[in-house]
This record gives sequence, structure tokens and C-alpha cells, in this order.
Amino acid sequence: MPAQTALTLEEQAIYEWQMTVPGMGEEGQRKLKSASVLISRVGGLGGLVALELAAAGVGKLVLAHGGNLRASDLNRQLLQTHDHIGKPRMESILRRLNELNPRCEVVGVSENVSEKNADSLVAHADIVVDAAPLFQERLALNAAAFRAGKPMVECAMHTLEATVTVFAPGKTGCLACYVPEIPASWTRQFPVFGAVSGTAACIGAMEVIKLITGIGESLAGSLLSMDLSTMQFRKVRLPKRADCPVCGR
Ligand SMILES: [Zn+2]
Repeated sequence: MPAQTALTLEEQAIYEWQMTVPGMGEEGQRKLKSASVLISRVGGLGGLVALELAAAGVGKLVLAHGGNLRASDLNRQLLQTHDHIGKPRMESILRRLNELNPRCEVVGVSENVSEKNADSLVAHADIVVDAAPLFQERLALNAAAFRAGKPMVECAMHTLEATVTVFAPGKTGCLACYVPEIPASWTRQFPVFGAVSGTAACIGAMEVIKLITGIGESLAGSLLSMDLSTMQFRKVRLPKRADCPVCGR
């Protein structure tokens, strides 16, 4: 993590409540202010990760998401507004985050993560968050994060199920350990409620905050699986695969 930056009086006032969380203090807040986080896709899932991290006082967010807003995005993409249909998603994302926290430096990249741009995007952040709907993007980000030795918070959802885990290079396996190839049946459009993608997002944001500040216990090495239809939540160990094409020998 980078050198810490002091808090202004205004920041001390804004983050007063969360600085009283045991283990946080002003030092934890300075760590958040000094940190940078890359989020791959800022839609129903990544948009809420960005919102929570901006609210918590993370100093810099690098956001990758291309395309224009569609009407069908509005059931979950809470950084968007109705009047923005047909216009670039990134414009709303930057405006809404700035309204909440003008002290947060937000770099918007109107492209989705690919094998071409993954390394240069990952270079701009201490931690990466994977919230992309397509496995091509997820696996490209996973490989780049592993090459750069940076932790990746992996958030996913489908119908009423959501999962969150953390991959820490050198300590845990990676996404390619358990998704060795792209499932043939996967499609870009899938069943989703905003409340389900938002659940994965808030838990993913908390994992980022824990990684930066050192409070609590990271999900690294475990997968949290949540079934919102039955409200059964469970944690399973996620083994590293020795023959993984990315993190194996
Ligand atoms: Zn692996």
C-alpha cells in the first residue's frame, strides 16, 4: 500500500462515525484515502461497489465500463438516471460519484476490460474488483491482477444467487483455478434483481475496505455463497489448483 496522506478537518468530520469502528481509527481512514481501486464494469454490481467505496473515502477509483445506457439497465444500475437513456453510462457514473464525494479522484475509462487493456488498467490500482458479466473480461482481469501481484475481489451473481471471494496472488488460487474455461451456455443477458447484485456489491466493497485497512478477516481462500431465495449463506474453502494455467507452476 502507498504512503498515507493526512486527513483534512472536513474529512475528519465526514468519516467520524466509521472511524469509531474497532480497529479503524484515523489511521484506517488515512489508508483508505491513500488507496486506489480498479472496478471492472460499473453496472448493477460494480456501480454499488464504486458508490460504497466513494462513500467510505477511498482516495482514487479507476472505473472501466463502455457503452450507452439502455432502459433495461435501470432495474439495477443505480448510478444511472432515467434521463440518461441512450447516453454514455460513464457520464452518469462520474456525475453521481462526484455528487456524493467530490474529494474522491475518479478516473472513468469508457471501455470494458479485455486482454488488450487489462495490464495497463491494473497498473493504476492497488486492488482490483471484478464485477463484469462476461467470463472473457473476468479471466483477462484475473490474469492481469495475478501478473501484477495485486489482490482481486471477485463478485458475481445470477438469478437469486450471489458469490464473493478474494484472490490474493501467492496466498490463494485464482479465478482460472475454478473457471478453467468459459462455460458454453453463458449469455450476456441473465436474470437479475438489483437487490441481488447490490448484495454481492456491498459485501465485495466491505472486502476491499478490509484489505485496505486490515480490519476483520478477509474472504481470501474462501468463497461466500449466498442463496437469496432461501437466505442460506455458506462459506466454502476454495482450493488452489496446481495445474492452473494462470497461477499454477
Ligand atoms: Zn489459478
